[in-house]
Amino acid sequence: MDKVKVLEKYLPADAAPLIGRWIDYFKCEFKISRNRNSKFGDYRAPFDGKGHRISVNYDLNPYAFLVTTVHEFAHLHTWNEHKHRVKPHGAEWKSNFKKMMQPFFEKDIFPADVKRAITSYLNNPAASSCSDLNLYRSLCQYDAPKEDVHTVEKLPMHTIFKLKDGRVFRKEEKLRKRYKCVEISTRRVYLFSPVAEVEVVEQG
Ligand SMILES: [Zn+2]
Repeated sequence: MDKVKVLEKYLPADAAPLIGRWIDYFKCEFKISRNRNSKFGDYRAPFDGKGHRISVNYDLNPYAFLVTTVHEFAHLHTWNEHKHRVKPHGAEWKSNFKKMMQPFFEKDIFPADVKRAITSYLNNPAASSCSDLNLYRSLCQYDAPKEDVHTVEKLPMHTIFKLKDGRVFRKEEKLRKRYKCVEISTRRVYLFSPVAEVEVVEQG
């Protein structure tokens, strides 16, 4: 099947032709990955006879898929210019990421809230991959709703919730950026990210 047709299934349709051209222009092996949940995407520099390789997680919504794809292409472009002489998310990467996002801003591909979050992320010198909660939140709003999955920040105080591994916790107060939660069986205290996804067992 035509590359752009495949990309259109994962990306906003207007963005697919340009990503298709980048894949050719940079001679990049681009993979849509099905077996990873800790990372959105990945770039590997040429090594051992292999060329540039990028993979992006298949289950991202189209906006998150596009932002991740551009993030990884910015790594590729930075590697071409500087090889290993610069930090992965340093000033050089950042300026390439900014430049490479421009055509998608010009095509008006993003909803206003996502555009605002990306712009402020690009202007925040500390930002790297998924460490920006505002960007992550605004991108996730466009995910198809999952049943019974809630983020810790949205739960009322004292809600009992469960993790995928079956451990059960009670939500307590917020400490700085994270939530204190007590594991019911051990009474030990854990700190949870506000955007950790959990299953509600009993409303607080
Ligand atoms: Zn990165």
